[in-house]
Amino acid sequence: MAYLRIHCDVCGGTWEVYHRDNWNDDKARQCPHCFSKIDRQVWQKEVLPAFGAVNDANAELFKDHTGYHRPLFTFDVIADHLYANRKTGGDTCPLAERLQEFDDFING
Ligand SMILES: [Zn+2]
Repeated sequence: MAYLRIHCDVCGGTWEVYHRDNWNDDKARQCPHCFSKIDRQVWQKEVLPAFGAVNDANAELFKDHTGYHRPLFTFDVIADHLYANRKTGGDTCPLAERLQEFDDFING
């Protein structure tokens, strides 16, 4: 069963929401480390349907495999952590570097 892993950029923590959890509970969308919350409307209208869509697509792939003996594939959606290293100054994200170049170009 799929689960959701959420990254909190406020404190750098992560948490997971599992199938057995109550996804409509405020705790599901709240960082357990710093108690920041994902906006309720964004959670309900964007995050949950997106998670459901991924689950549905993986279920279809599985049905294709079991029903028609096609090769089995599953997929994950990995967020592009654009600002993951901005605090530590470690390896920078290539996309973030390109955006910075673009910003420098636009703003001189
Ligand atoms: Zn947090």
